[in-house]
Amino acid sequence: MTLSDIDYIIPTHIHLDHFGGGGHIMESCENAKALVHPKAYKHVSEIDAWWEGSRDFLGRVSELYGKPKPITQSRLISAEDGYELSLGKQSIKALHTPGHAPHHITWIYGNDAFVGDSAGLWYPDLDSSFPVTPGYYRHDLALQSIEKMESINLDFLLYTHFGPRSAKNTLSQTAKEFELWMGIVKEGVARNLTSTQILDILFQQRPGLLESNKNHGVHQSGTHLGTVEGMMGWIRRENEKR
Ligand SMILES: [Zn+2]
Repeated sequence: MTLSDIDYIIPTHIHLDHFGGGGHIMESCENAKALVHPKAYKHVSEIDAWWEGSRDFLGRVSELYGKPKPITQSRLISAEDGYELSLGKQSIKALHTPGHAPHHITWIYGNDAFVGDSAGLWYPDLDSSFPVTPGYYRHDLALQSIEKMESINLDFLLYTHFGPRSAKNTLSQTAKEFELWMGIVKEGVARNLTSTQILDILFQQRPGLLESNKNHGVHQSGTHLGTVEGMMGWIRRENEKR
């Protein structure tokens, strides 16, 4: 098999750490098509808004990934919710799971799910998982998405960060962790604490969190602070609605 035999590239979502190299991969896999969420379709073909948004959110870290290459629309497939791609004997099915990002897809393959970032980050070495929520995080949708995944009979969750995990009781526990974080962040906002101060409280209260912050390399170093800020953004937008 060579790269030209690859038919499909299937990202869960287009954040730079997942699909920033998508255009480069598509160049190497000359016959492949990429399956993306309808809301990501335009961003990956006309990359300027995508790159600007990534730079706003990731700052210096975006430079580590570099600017993505655009993918022509003729090589993109827009995957609606429920879209099913036949892979011979098996198929892979798109489940839209917004919250972490509006353009997030969880891919269901048999009884396993490629969850991307929709169920947070899984640290197998610490036996812990934590939320990951960027600037435009939608807490309501994230919880609905977790519930949607929980309603499917799954054996394994396949995390991009970091690897496979038994699905047994995992998603209900994940929803609880998201709620717990949101509770702590809300309390911090009410007390006018900064994101760093709120993260310190989380470091004290959530076993494994501090270790996960130290052990996973430069591109993960600001992740938990970004998550606290994503949750603070959600709270602020909700308060503005009132
Ligand atoms: Zn992401």
